[in-house]
Amino acid sequence: MSFISELMVKIWEPESLKYKKLREEYDNLSDGDFTARVSAYFDGKDADESVYMTALNSCGCPYWNQNGILSGCSFCDFFSKHFEGFVLLGALKDRNRERYEALIIDRFYISRAKEPNINMLEHITGFDSLNTDEISAKLHEELLGEESSFFKDGFTVLSCETRATSVTPQRVRSWKKNVKGRLRVECGAEVHNEWLRNHWINKGITDCDLSRAARILREERCLFACDVIIGIPGLSERQSIALFPHAFRFCVDLGAMQVITSPLLRKGVNLQSAISEKLGQDSELTDIGIGGNGPIGIHVFSVLLAVCSAVKKYPEDASKLKFAGGHFDMYCRHVKELYTDGEEARVVNIALEGLCAFSRTGKTDQLDIAYEQINSSRCFADFCDRLHSQHGLDQIQETMRIVAEKMAKVYWPADWKEKLHEFGEELKGFSL
Ligand code: SF4
Repeated sequence: MSFISELMVKIWEPESLKYKKLREEYDNLSDGDFTARVSAYFDGKDADESVYMTALNSCGCPYWNQNGILSGCSFCDFFSKHFEGFVLLGALKDRNRERYEALIIDRFYISRAKEPNINMLEHITGFDSLNTDEISAKLHEELLGEESSFFKDGFTVLSCETRATSVTPQRVRSWKKNVKGRLRVECGAEVHNEWLRNHWINKGITDCDLSRAARILREERCLFACDVIIGIPGLSERQSIALFPHAFRFCVDLGAMQVITSPLLRKGVNLQSAISEKLGQDSELTDIGIGGNGPIGIHVFSVLLAVCSAVKKYPEDASKLKFAGGHFDMYCRHVKELYTDGEEARVVNIALEGLCAFSRTGKTDQLDIAYEQINSSRCFADFCDRLHSQHGLDQIQETMRIVAEKMAKVYWPADWKEKLHEFGEELKGFSL
């Protein structure tokens, strides 16, 4: 197990214990009491539908929950907000598979009317949609197959998200069966560097997994899109800005027709939150550019600089870059809550508006206009001064070693030297 995999298990440990306790409680209930518990939780609860997508209920991402041991990608927490629901669904699935699937289908029809208008593009997704551990072939057929009452004339474009390792010809064929136009599949690449992706972001996805997924989708005449994060947890903003254009290029070269990006949020249980919570007062980390920014994981100015840099370097592909709808809305809400008044709020808002306008229209001149407007402001100049004093890409190994040491001392107070040694050995395999 890599250092980051073990660290993420540690960071999630209190939730894993909570999960275990709740599961035991549910498993010990009689059928009647358990059913009442499920009803009490789900009845009257709105399904999680946004204007951008219809989220399928499930037991959560199988990569996050491995037999009750929770961890997952180091920037991700889609789970603590609806924690009890995931535990209940896991218990129901093991107790009675048929009732579980019936509930998932019910929840789907609550989020969409029984016979809704089907949009030209339907983004209907789980976390790892093509993984049968999350959405079984039978459940998929009942939800979106020919027998489904939701399905009438087929979808023009059906879109879903999945891990690259779950893309197989067989799963793709079964998902694309009812699609008149194209099936679009979105896979997380996050960064271009395989070592960073797996030894720091804990993605568990190789370059080979991504190119294999891209090839299968191409051969099956499906559309392929990639997710990329702006702001790597535990790296400086300066490093994150510098890495972003490479990630964008990497995804375009893989054949992605869209590169969907999300600014890092310090939300729930993720590495960025753990660093802020445990080491928020650490002046060495602040000096090198780690942490800070309150609930947002990366400053708006950094997001603007990263996006500007990517579209300037690769103008011919700029239109492929999009923000992830719901996630970006959440980021914007946090930014607005953080900067409410004064000169800094005014300037931050200009940057945010520029990013929103680019996201809406795909026009890069909106980014240029925002950049020109903020460039003469005092607060942007101060921000750039701070940015230049942060660790740059040439110090990235040192940055990770510093963060790893501090986190090892927090999570393994007795064995931190051993853990750090193991990380040092892994780090020998890193190159940019
Ligand atoms: S980012 Fe995706 S693959 Fe990683 S834990 Fe979250 S949902 Fe699962």
